[in-house]
Amino acid sequence: MLNATGKMQFVTAITILAITLFESSRSEAKKLNVITATTDMAALAQEVGGDRINVESLAKGYQDPHFVEPKPSFLLKLRQADLLISVGLQLEIGWLPPLITQSGNARIQVGAPGYLDASQFAEILDIPTGQVTRAMGDVHPLGNPHYWLDPDNGRRIARGFAQKFGELDPTDTAYFQQRFQDFDKRLSAAEQKWDAAMAPYSGRKLVTYHNSFPNFAKHFHLNVIGYVEPRPGIPPTPSHTIELIGLMKRENCKLVLVEPYFDLKTPNSIGSASGAKVVVYLPSVGGEKQVTNYFELFDYDIALITKAYQSVQ
Ligand SMILES: [Zn+2]
Repeated sequence: MLNATGKMQFVTAITILAITLFESSRSEAKKLNVITATTDMAALAQEVGGDRINVESLAKGYQDPHFVEPKPSFLLKLRQADLLISVGLQLEIGWLPPLITQSGNARIQVGAPGYLDASQFAEILDIPTGQVTRAMGDVHPLGNPHYWLDPDNGRRIARGFAQKFGELDPTDTAYFQQRFQDFDKRLSAAEQKWDAAMAPYSGRKLVTYHNSFPNFAKHFHLNVIGYVEPRPGIPPTPSHTIELIGLMKRENCKLVLVEPYFDLKTPNSIGSASGAKVVVYLPSVGGEKQVTNYFELFDYDIALITKAYQSVQ
């Protein structure tokens, strides 16, 4: 038989057990289902969402985010999403809008609380001053959509995500804010390391295949002098390639960065004609298996770029 104290302890233990069970089922049931267009947005969402969200990217990190082949599985994912995060600035215009409509999910339609365009949080470069339309073949008509390659933009986006997650899941607002503070701290420490690694190459010139690098270049003080593509989204032409080689020789430009989804034939001929090193860089998390988060993306690219500049000094 239990005495009064024993009974009290028993009741307390049962209560704690019940609360624990209730809490775990509650957080399991309440996890926000987040779908992102790209892996970089998924990586940043994961940083602040922790174990209170499920997050998955539609595009793979080795795919050109402008041109993603839609799969039936995308629709299944979109149907179950509480939140859809896009990069915006028309990056996904060729594949995502019809999927949003076809998903029939009212929560994630453009303008609904479950649709978030991450570009609103970031510093956007290359905003056209004149008239630019997609009819001209330019896939960056609203400014450069590859803005996540500046860690300061990563911080701004993560802050925006923490705010949005808290709006959709108010009971975990403090958790998301705390996760953001922790990310911010780790990112600042990493930035010091990255800035130091890149400092010796301040002002160095490079060419990129696609115009996907201006935010990285601005942050780390590199000078992008040209592109293998005549315009973003337009394949190389012989006349543009000849002009580019001439420019690189005059400017003593010794590095060509190529996104992993482009053919290396033209870059390699530019490299041999100009004496520049041609390197495949990763614009996105998941471009290679070992690059699994936002930090590893910068670690990978900075190691690659510093090594390339060392080899052509
Ligand atoms: Zn682009």
